[in-house]
Amino acid sequence: MRLDKLLSNMGYGSRKEVKQLLKQKAVTVDGIHVKDAAMHVDPDKQDVSVYDERVIYTEFVYFMMNKPPGVISATEDSREATVIDLLEPLHQHFEPFPVGRLDKDTEGLLLLTNDGTLTHNLLSPKKHVPKVYYAQIDGVVTEADGEAFARGVELDDGYVTKPGKLVILKSAEQSEIELTIQEGKFHQVKRMFEAVGKRVTYLKRLSMGSLKLDESLDLGEYRELTPEELASLQ
Ligand code: URA
Repeated sequence: MRLDKLLSNMGYGSRKEVKQLLKQKAVTVDGIHVKDAAMHVDPDKQDVSVYDERVIYTEFVYFMMNKPPGVISATEDSREATVIDLLEPLHQHFEPFPVGRLDKDTEGLLLLTNDGTLTHNLLSPKKHVPKVYYAQIDGVVTEADGEAFARGVELDDGYVTKPGKLVILKSAEQSEIELTIQEGKFHQVKRMFEAVGKRVTYLKRLSMGSLKLDESLDLGEYRELTPEELASLQ
């Protein structure tokens, strides 16, 4: 990889700013000052340092976000704020994208990464990765709804959902539930409740496969996955 690309990717500024660093003799490769921006380096085998601090190169980043309401799960949008806007510029540099979509008003666990293979594995319908949602429902949720979800319900477009598991936390005029589904159809949870005549008024994703929302993250906050979390997803 070119030295200027490596440094720029790792957050040392634009290619132009990196050139300045090189000019200032701030950069060494295996202990030797380098000024050539086009020099090819292997960050795994060579010691690239800036002001005597070794640059640890990572290609992939993995962030867990507690998505707040009001932002969309996209990488860019001309009008709306996106989850990417909530990341520090240094992290945006890696060009992560959200793994699957949460609606604008949905909160909770959102994984952001630039690892296309992991994304594919988590989203592939063949992998049946379970997703758990907590929801508040306008209407009395009953065991009959749970049985309907376990059989599969027909959505407004005629699609019949795969079996879902409903846990009723509170059955009242305003109910509370946890629902586990293994698919990710557009607005799926909301449409499943519509299919049984009820309305979701609040929705939050709690987990995706082995990954659980870190409840110490405030809305809009994010952190890197731990090595254990990452290993359990792969
Ligand atoms: N189901 C929905 O209806 N909305 C989401 O954001 C996620 C799942």
